[in-house]
Amino acid sequence: MSRYCDSVCRLCRRENQKLFLKGDRCYTEKCSFERRGYPPGQHGQGRKKFSEYGIQLREKQKIKRMYGLSETQFRRGFGEAARHKGVTGNVMISNLERRLDNVTYRSGFANSRSQARQLVRHGHFLVNGRRVNIPSFLVKKGDVVEVHEKSRTTDSIRYALESVKRREVPQWLDLDMGAFKSKIRDLPAREDVTAPMEERLVVELYSK
Ligand code: SF4
Repeated sequence: MSRYCDSVCRLCRRENQKLFLKGDRCYTEKCSFERRGYPPGQHGQGRKKFSEYGIQLREKQKIKRMYGLSETQFRRGFGEAARHKGVTGNVMISNLERRLDNVTYRSGFANSRSQARQLVRHGHFLVNGRRVNIPSFLVKKGDVVEVHEKSRTTDSIRYALESVKRREVPQWLDLDMGAFKSKIRDLPAREDVTAPMEERLVVELYSK
């Protein structure tokens, strides 16, 4: 799988929106987007007019980058959402939110989704008492995600939990900070995701 190795702040500047890819730094004035809120590169400050296709493509790239997925993973997720009952865009966003790496990030066990993914892969989390190390694992209503007992002293997890106050834990998660547990109160609905996203444009792009 191809891996993006350049500065992630370039991605925010490219998508003209803060994607919160760098943890704590995103909430400080050191944020590159706050200092240089224009696209990267020599011609970044030039005027750009996007075609309809360009607008749809940028929206897809933005959502994909926000959740840190490759094109193949994102496309596969879209295909699964399209086969599911309901509005495809809403199902797609709900499934992205239900990923275990996203749930651990949203619960405050990690400072960014990339850090959450690494922690999941290294086996620091249990789902309903069983170790799960698959970042794309989809949680269900009533599931309990918790930090493994041996991992509760891990610096990055403790530090992330201390700084969770800066971001809101969504309503559909019930975080018990003291017990290092997060219960899935309900499946995430579209209105629970407040980041600006126009999933309709992704549906239009992939339906061409
Ligand atoms: Fe984006 Fe965070 Fe970098 Fe700011 S600090 S540009 S929000 S990744």
